[in-house]
Amino acid sequence: MNDPLFPLDARTLVVVAFTSSILMAAVLWFVFAGRFRDGLARWTQSLWVQALAWLLIALLGEIPDVVSVAAANGLLALGWSLQFAAVLEFQRRRVPSVLVWAPAVIVFVLFFLLIDDARLRLIVGGPLYGAFCTLIAGAAFTHRPTYGFRAYGLFASGYLVAATVLFLRSVGAWVEPQEYAAALAPHSHQGLLYFVACALVVSSSLAYLLMHRERADEETRRLATTDPLTDLFNRRTFIELAERELARSRRDSTSLSLMILDLDHFKQVNDTYGHLVGDDVLVAFTGLIRDRARRGDLVVRYGGEEFCVLLPATSLPAAVALAERIRASTAVTALTAHPIKITVSVGVTAYAGAPGVTLETLLARADEALYRAKHEGRNRVVALPLAETGAAQQRPLPLEHVG
Ligand code: GH3
Ligand code: MG
Ligand code: MG
Repeated sequence: MNDPLFPLDARTLVVVAFTSSILMAAVLWFVFAGRFRDGLARWTQSLWVQALAWLLIALLGEIPDVVSVAAANGLLALGWSLQFAAVLEFQRRRVPSVLVWAPAVIVFVLFFLLIDDARLRLIVGGPLYGAFCTLIAGAAFTHRPTYGFRAYGLFASGYLVAATVLFLRSVGAWVEPQEYAAALAPHSHQGLLYFVACALVVSSSLAYLLMHRERADEETRRLATTDPLTDLFNRRTFIELAERELARSRRDSTSLSLMILDLDHFKQVNDTYGHLVGDDVLVAFTGLIRDRARRGDLVVRYGGEEFCVLLPATSLPAAVALAERIRASTAVTALTAHPIKITVSVGVTAYAGAPGVTLETLLARADEALYRAKHEGRNRVVALPLAETGAAQQRPLPLEHVG
């Protein structure tokens, strides 16, 4: 007779756990076969293995205990260590194969030794499997990325619920020996545990897939908005963000400055030392700008060796001071191990509330200042206030990606 508190039959629930695992494994295999990556293959294996484990547990009493108890629990453990490995592989960490196999062997031997003591198996199994679940939850949650939380939270909480129920069952088996005589004993706690196991198969697989999905979305977003070499915003994103900053400056009547930086004679670096050294210089120069810019400044790779920095709430003299610091540092910093002197020319302009100013006007004026800096001998900063403009050429805004 079943306990009225949770009147679901344990063996039926074990069959449901088997069905859920095998269905989920089949679906993943059908969708991803041939293009498994980042732990999905391990995850699918874990579901096949656990499906087999649940099947053997459902046959408890019908087949020899060494299979339905020792082998089944070894397989359950193997399934969980495969899930742990799947989480590590998702995080692109290495997984030693001993980590996958050792727990399964240990659990098999342990349950083989306890084959005649069902109650002791329940007492030992709680903390053991609870620890497995906590480890999986911890591995996923402690390495969650900054962009996402929900899928990781869902994933980890499923395992933590399972760990709690397992632990409580262990305590139950300790204090109420008659009620917990066997794994499939008709007791509400057993039913609850297998119910949680069924739910975990579905929720953890779904959450694991959502973790993949969230990361893929984030990677797509990054590819679309940043330059792969320097990790700076690309031109398209810069224009979007800069338009917003300019609108804010207009609204709040604050000034806003813009500088364009162009490395001097950069072609010579490539010609002398090769493109890869040129790339290293670009990355090092990016670091140099970033170290000197403030948090809210927008730094962008505007073209090959041309960068822009948009400085919200910054007056022209302050922007010139920053440009001068960047220029001076560039001239004295070894941006490459090769004995080559690298300098930068900078054009600066600022918006100070004049009507009718657009981003195009600002870019054209900064470009004009840069042109003068190049013309006057390079390795210098030239500032042109917007007020003097008028004849400033409108610079078109090509939207193609950089790099
Ligand atoms: P100036 O002082 O007049 O700016 O001279 P410059 O040689 O820097 O200017 P120019 O426009 O003639 O050459 C720019 C060079 O930048 C040419 C191109 O090969 C190089 N470049 C553009 N993008 C990249 C890149 O992603 N990597 C590397 N290594 N070089 C790049
Ligand atoms: Mg140049
Ligand atoms: Mg250039």
